[in-house]
Amino acid sequence: MNEDASILVVDDNEDNRYTLKRRLKRMGLKKVVEAENGQEALNQVELHDFDMILLDIMMPIMDGYEVLKRLRSEKRFLNIPIIMISALSDVEDVVKAIDLGADDYLLKPFNPVLLRAKVEASLVKKRLFEIEKNFYRDYDECTQLAKPDLFVGSLDGEMRNNPDTTFAVYYFKFTTYHQLSQSTGHEDAEKYIKHCSVILKKTFAGENYYFGRLADDAIAIFSIAKECHFLIDQINFEQQVLKLLDEPVSNNDKTLRGTSQIHLGICLTTPKLHNGEQLIANSAFACETAINNNKKVAYYDQDTHEKTLAKFKLEPKLKQALFDKKLVMYYQPIVLGTTGEIKTFEALIRWPTETGMISPGEFIPLAEETGLILDLDDYVMTSVCAQIGLWRKQHPNFKFSVGINISARHWADSQLSEKVLKLLALNDLPGHFLKLEMTESALVGDIKSVRSNFEVLQNNGVQIALDDFGTGYASLSYLLDFPFNVLKIDRVFIVDIETDEQKQKLLPAILQISKSLNMESIIEGVETKEQVDIVNQCKGDLIQGFYFYKPSPVDVINQLSIFK
Ligand code: C2E
Ligand code: MG
Ligand code: MG
Repeated sequence: MNEDASILVVDDNEDNRYTLKRRLKRMGLKKVVEAENGQEALNQVELHDFDMILLDIMMPIMDGYEVLKRLRSEKRFLNIPIIMISALSDVEDVVKAIDLGADDYLLKPFNPVLLRAKVEASLVKKRLFEIEKNFYRDYDECTQLAKPDLFVGSLDGEMRNNPDTTFAVYYFKFTTYHQLSQSTGHEDAEKYIKHCSVILKKTFAGENYYFGRLADDAIAIFSIAKECHFLIDQINFEQQVLKLLDEPVSNNDKTLRGTSQIHLGICLTTPKLHNGEQLIANSAFACETAINNNKKVAYYDQDTHEKTLAKFKLEPKLKQALFDKKLVMYYQPIVLGTTGEIKTFEALIRWPTETGMISPGEFIPLAEETGLILDLDDYVMTSVCAQIGLWRKQHPNFKFSVGINISARHWADSQLSEKVLKLLALNDLPGHFLKLEMTESALVGDIKSVRSNFEVLQNNGVQIALDDFGTGYASLSYLLDFPFNVLKIDRVFIVDIETDEQKQKLLPAILQISKSLNMESIIEGVETKEQVDIVNQCKGDLIQGFYFYKPSPVDVINQLSIFK
């Protein structure tokens, strides 16, 4: 008998409470608390952790049924064994109480032998429940694998005790888990991960592999590195492990599977890396790399990791800079190839920091990944429209259009055209002062909004340019579908064109397409006199390149002769 068990005796009859208390004490149970009605019982339950309750049915203020109902409706009280106390004549009430969740009953007057047996049984039940609860504090209920804290602790312990041994962490991510969870429900997803855990345990049988469930959709294994040698061989991994995991899991009449959605990241200890948590984080990172690169397996690579971390650090800074309006617009003049006369501009964003200028090549992809690009584009459109408005005010003859880069995500936003038209109105600008640039990536996928933005803007006089032509993956047929005003031919066709005969043939062919579809051409990245000559021979229209002008801030642009 657990003598430290604490017991609540609830009865309105003082004699009954006294008898029970005395008998319990005789059994060695010293912690007995009394309550004389249901309400008081509930108050006591809030104050103490009871291991058992002896509960009378008929009581004033609040009867035993009500107490029972309230206790069983709360998760934290569900597992306190409750023995109902009833008079012999009310034995039917006991049935009702059992239905409401009572564990057992005792009839008055008390039979000491029965009382002892029932109290002992209830306390054993409570103890078993405690043991189970403690087990599931450390182990996942569904897979019976260690939870993260235990897994990390065990790995740390092994690493500490075996400082000269190389350990490996294998991090499996089951993307199918979330698909199942969203489509057929949480239960199916749990069944699926259980199936995966069984297969992994079968594959890595033995004491040398330690398993943990580290997330809903992730199972990790650690071991001494050489134990998992066959795993390190990717072909073996795919043949042995993934094949096994591909066994259909049948759940009633449904079949769950999804090998193609399983990825593995691997990280080994190095002399410098002796921290379990870090090792696991690295293997999880490797797994993300595998997912991002469409591979099944990836090893941890410190270089990639550091770059990714640096990128994450950059994001809040970029957000702040955008909020503080620290990003500035540069403008690059675009000229007529034959005369060098300025015809138009492209606005290019710049991020000045204490350590120098961060190039858009670095932060635009980050903004695209994080969604910040929509705010960034808004900022650019607002600044550029205001700048054109200002130039027009200062120079009544100002006649240049300015190109703005608009991200693919923004082209797919149904609000884009409305936003642009508002900005034009706000700055009193006719549409032809703006040239919005789009890359081919905007034309892949769902293009309904892209098309409507395109049409509305073009109908309002805004010119639309296809940027970086020749670098995307879209099929050429979109050129027939979308009547672009301008084709910006990417720098790749110009680099080394002086010596590259293929490029010398390709450029005029591209220019021919541009002409036959009535698009004006801009050739990007022209850096030398020779390149200018070649472009002119091929009859290109406009040139954007360092040979003529570099992108510059407004105060430099204002010095140009066109503003004099
Ligand atoms: P892009 O739209 O194709 O812009 C042309 C890029 O070529 C600019 O790079 C420009 O500085 C560079 N360039 C111009 N002439 C030459 C040349 O002769 N030689 C070489 N090597 N480069 C030349 P930048 O400013 O670094 O911008 C890179 C890309 O970042 C842009 O490519 C564009 O995709 C994106 N970007 C720049 N500003 C913005 C912006 O305001 N919003 C958005 N969404 N994207 C922007
Ligand atoms: Mg551009
Ligand atoms: Mg470009």
